[in-house]
Amino acid sequence: MRNAADYRRILLKISGEALNGGSNFCFNSQVLSYLADEVAAALAMKKQVAIVVGGGNIVRGEMLSSDMGVDRVTADYMGMLATVINGKALQSALNAAGIDTRLQSALNMEQVVAPYIREKAVRHLENGQVVIFAGGTGNPFFSTDTAAALRASEIGANALLKATNVDGVYSSDPAKNADAKRYDTLPMNDAINQQLRVMDATALALCRERKLPVHVFKLTTPGTLAAILKGQDEGTLLTC
Ligand code: UDP
Repeated sequence: MRNAADYRRILLKISGEALNGGSNFCFNSQVLSYLADEVAAALAMKKQVAIVVGGGNIVRGEMLSSDMGVDRVTADYMGMLATVINGKALQSALNAAGIDTRLQSALNMEQVVAPYIREKAVRHLENGQVVIFAGGTGNPFFSTDTAAALRASEIGANALLKATNVDGVYSSDPAKNADAKRYDTLPMNDAINQQLRVMDATALALCRERKLPVHVFKLTTPGTLAAILKGQDEGTLLTC
């Protein structure tokens, strides 16, 4: 058992690719309503839930730049805009499930989305509302994993929960190596030194500095988020 049962406030990182459920379209409505159910379960446990959403199902800046020759900074802004589109989709799905949700963006576009204001976000969380952070960090050359580490640190989250399509961190790629070992827990230093590709190095370095535990788990297995929040040994826990 882990002490995750004591968490009061969590930051959930959901990648853009998680939203399309493997389809060619940006979104999959079943995945979105499934995510809403998982978040509802966490709220029922009296947890405060903030979410950082990625944009990789629509635009990845690095790829757009290398494949299409779009200037990297422009491509990254396009990626950040994609996270706002995803934030809107996720907010809509959570609202449809009866979850009171606020969306804030690191990029200002006042007709479309509220700006990121830390104090307001914390107030919303204390009122039991879910807060979705879009727009990444608001700066090119960063990732939404780094935005997740940053926002989690700013709002004083007890942990960052990174949802992925594998059930934890492995010693090597489990799709390529049958002997790959899944870690129950792993010191963050080891994840950084062994370049295990859990999150980018900037995100991990910030979590390490802020002593922010990171849970890596499989998003598509129902009940896993609630199980983690009960302290069960799901996924991999990166320790500081
Ligand atoms: N991005 C950025 N700065 C940030 C966060 C994201 O420039 O602080 C851009 C970057 O181009 C990235 C894209 O937005 O490729 C989508 O974010 P990310 O790849 O992290 O999304 P995910 O993999 O989580 O879906």
